[in-house]
Amino acid sequence: MMRPYMLAENTWKIVRETEYTLAILPWGATEAHNYHMPYGTDIIEADHIAAESARLAWEQGTKVIVFPTVPFGVNTGQFDVKLDLNMNPSTQLAILHDIVDVLNRQGIYKLIILNSHGGNDFKTMIRELGLQYPKMFLSSCNWYQSVDQKEFFENKDDHAGEMETSLLLHLTPDLVRPLSEAGDGASKKFRMTAIREGWAWAERKWTKVTKDTGVGDPRKATAEKGEKYFNIVTQKVANFFIEVAKADNDDLYA
Ligand SMILES: [Zn+2]
Repeated sequence: MMRPYMLAENTWKIVRETEYTLAILPWGATEAHNYHMPYGTDIIEADHIAAESARLAWEQGTKVIVFPTVPFGVNTGQFDVKLDLNMNPSTQLAILHDIVDVLNRQGIYKLIILNSHGGNDFKTMIRELGLQYPKMFLSSCNWYQSVDQKEFFENKDDHAGEMETSLLLHLTPDLVRPLSEAGDGASKKFRMTAIREGWAWAERKWTKVTKDTGVGDPRKATAEKGEKYFNIVTQKVANFFIEVAKADNDDLYA
């Protein structure tokens, strides 16, 4: 099965001859996901959503190239969860800078970061790098915000809940423990009204908020729900890839 849009699976001969217009950098995290899902959950999601979205875009003639997923996310709030592998935002900026520098030097002027992890936030980095690399179109997208989860799932998922569990039951069922082993994902909220309303923000100290590391009840998850959601999400993400690939960097606004 040839996947010409996956950089890690292709040779120099092919890559040298292909004119890519858009690069995709999937970005995950390595962290605990309740009692029933693996530490690589966000990486698995990023891998599959990037690959399938790129496949759909490629079939429409989009010359998109997916880079290997960055496996480390910002886990500063989970500092005391065993082997949650925190990568500081400043380190992420250094990595992103190097990737953008490669693209800019080689004339691939469009990059989308496909983000899989709520603790990652690339906006300020994109502002800073955009100033340094004015030819580049730099963008990030959170696939988990691309469609209204309420249409697919009964219980809201923040972390390791019904949405993520359904996705993994669809994508990698062998890596999910029986749901009878899952914690209920119950969580505490901040006492401050402004933060609860969402217009003020502070970082949650994870182990003070949840017992099982989950935030969101996973127990109504099914592979069928995951498949439906995956298909809609990848279609929407593919459409974004196509729109960005077609866009003129000097004429982005209407
Ligand atoms: Zn996750």
